[in-house]
Amino acid sequence: MRMEEVYEQLQLWVEENRSHTMLGATAQYIPALAEQEPNQLGICIMDYDGDTYLAGETDVNFTLQSVSKIISFVALCHFKGMDFVLDKVDVEPTGEAFNSIIPFEIHRPGKPFNPLINAGAITVASMLPGDTPDEKFERFILFVEGMIGRRLELNEEVYQSEWKTAHRNRALAYYLKESNLLELDVEEALEIYIRLCSISIGLKDLSKIGLVIAHDGYDPVEKQQIFSSDVARIAKVLMVTCGMYNSSGKFAAHVGLPAKSGVSGGILASVPPKWHSEEKAFRKGCGIAVFGPAIDAHGNSAAGTMLLRQLSAEWDLSIF
Ligand code: GLN
Repeated sequence: MRMEEVYEQLQLWVEENRSHTMLGATAQYIPALAEQEPNQLGICIMDYDGDTYLAGETDVNFTLQSVSKIISFVALCHFKGMDFVLDKVDVEPTGEAFNSIIPFEIHRPGKPFNPLINAGAITVASMLPGDTPDEKFERFILFVEGMIGRRLELNEEVYQSEWKTAHRNRALAYYLKESNLLELDVEEALEIYIRLCSISIGLKDLSKIGLVIAHDGYDPVEKQQIFSSDVARIAKVLMVTCGMYNSSGKFAAHVGLPAKSGVSGGILASVPPKWHSEEKAFRKGCGIAVFGPAIDAHGNSAAGTMLLRQLSAEWDLSIF
């Protein structure tokens, strides 16, 4: 497909799907996120050559929120090895909400079910290399910089807003501490976790991360291996089985891409190469970033999910 054709279709589909923003609302439990403009919808696709296709609201910055969870998982595996990480967090979906205390308290598995629910992500964040939240944050920022070529910054307003209202996450962190799963004190573990959630990012940067995950940890633009293909494989498994919280099954059925969403309305998706049906777009794989801050009851961008569904169907992107 010609670039112009891809671009035109993308513009059209964004406008067609914009009405789905009405099916959601901005995250109300974090005051700074509640204030986001709900009917925004934007997308960036980065292809194998690093060319980008943007449509809708594209000049947006938003906080990573739970999208940070897959990146921190990858970073921790990269720095400390997969065995170390999988000893602390499992790779099982829960079927519960992302911030549920039930899987951890009632089932008492001994470790969080997976790194993409809050309990698992707080554990992972606390174990990043470095002795303090500051050092851990810096190592994470440098790791991401190695992938996107620029330094990301914290959104202080979102951080403060989330810090002040993090009662449930604080409760989870106490459970984790009691189970010896935190490398830091409760308050410090929360600090690094919430800082990672409050990092500000744009669509192009996020699509680059999706591209690297799609290509098994290899950056096809800079031609360098960022992390191992083993780590990328487990990351993709987690994205498919747990990345869209407790609607991951439906997302796999209707979109069929490894993806990770966050309550700010961002979605990171990875499209691995697919060599048959060559007349379709993006056969060499791509990274996709979507932003639509009106989220559904599961915490996923309502219009963003529908837009990905259309893209996947029209271009036959599903991995299944
Ligand atoms: N920072 C958010 C929280 O911990 C992240 C949740 C999300 O994006 N699903 O509640």
